[in-house]
Amino acid sequence: MPDSTTATNIQKIRSREPVRVRRPSRDEALDAVRTLIRWAGDDPEREGLLGTPDRVVRSYAEFFSGYGEDPVALLQRTFEEMDGYDEIVMLKDIRFESHCEHHIAPIIGKVHIAYLPNNRVVGISKLARLVEVYAKRLQIQEKMTAQIANTLDEVLQPKGVAVVIEAAHQCMTTRGVHKPGVSMVTSRMLGVFRTDPTTRREVLSMFGTPAGGTGEHA
Ligand SMILES: [Zn+2]
Repeated sequence: MPDSTTATNIQKIRSREPVRVRRPSRDEALDAVRTLIRWAGDDPEREGLLGTPDRVVRSYAEFFSGYGEDPVALLQRTFEEMDGYDEIVMLKDIRFESHCEHHIAPIIGKVHIAYLPNNRVVGISKLARLVEVYAKRLQIQEKMTAQIANTLDEVLQPKGVAVVIEAAHQCMTTRGVHKPGVSMVTSRMLGVFRTDPTTRREVLSMFGTPAGGTGEHA
C-alpha cells in the first residue's frame, strides 16, 4: 500500500504526463503519410510505395507506444524484503531507441540507472521497462533523463537516484550539421548522488561514462 507521501508523488507524476489528445482515425493517418510522400516529391500511388503508408502507421504505433503506458503502475510492485541490503542497485547499458521531438528523427543510445534503496527495490526488468515507457514517446534527451530519474525518485523514494544517458541523434548525423560519431551525454543526480561527491564519483565510475557525465541537464 502506498503511504501518503507516495500518493502525493504519484499525483505529481501523473500531472506531468502528456495531455491525452484526440487521435485521428487510421485513414487520416494513412492520408497524412501519402501527403508527406508527395511533399518529398514522389507518387504515393506508384507500386513500390503503395504499402508504405500502412507500414509507417504501424511503425508509429510501435515507436510511440509509450503514450499508452503508465510509468507509475509499472513501478508500484516493489519488494521490501531486502535483508538489510543497502548498497547501490545498478542497471547499465540499457539500449533504447527514441525519436526527437524536433525532427521525429531517431535518437539511439543507452541509459545507465542506479539507485540507493531505502527499504524498497523493484525488479530490474522494471527499470528497463521504465526506460521504454519514456523512450517510446517524442522526446528530448534532457527531458527523458529527468523523467526517468524523477519517477524512480518519487515512486521508490530511495536515498539517491543517478541516471546517465549517452545517445546519438540522427537529426545531427543525417541532416543539418551532419556530425556523425557525436554522442550527447546527459545526467540527473538526486539525493545522495547529488549531495555527496564521493558517492557521486563512485556511481559515475561504475557507469564508466566519459568524464563522469559532466553535463548536468536537469
Ligand atoms: Zn532533432
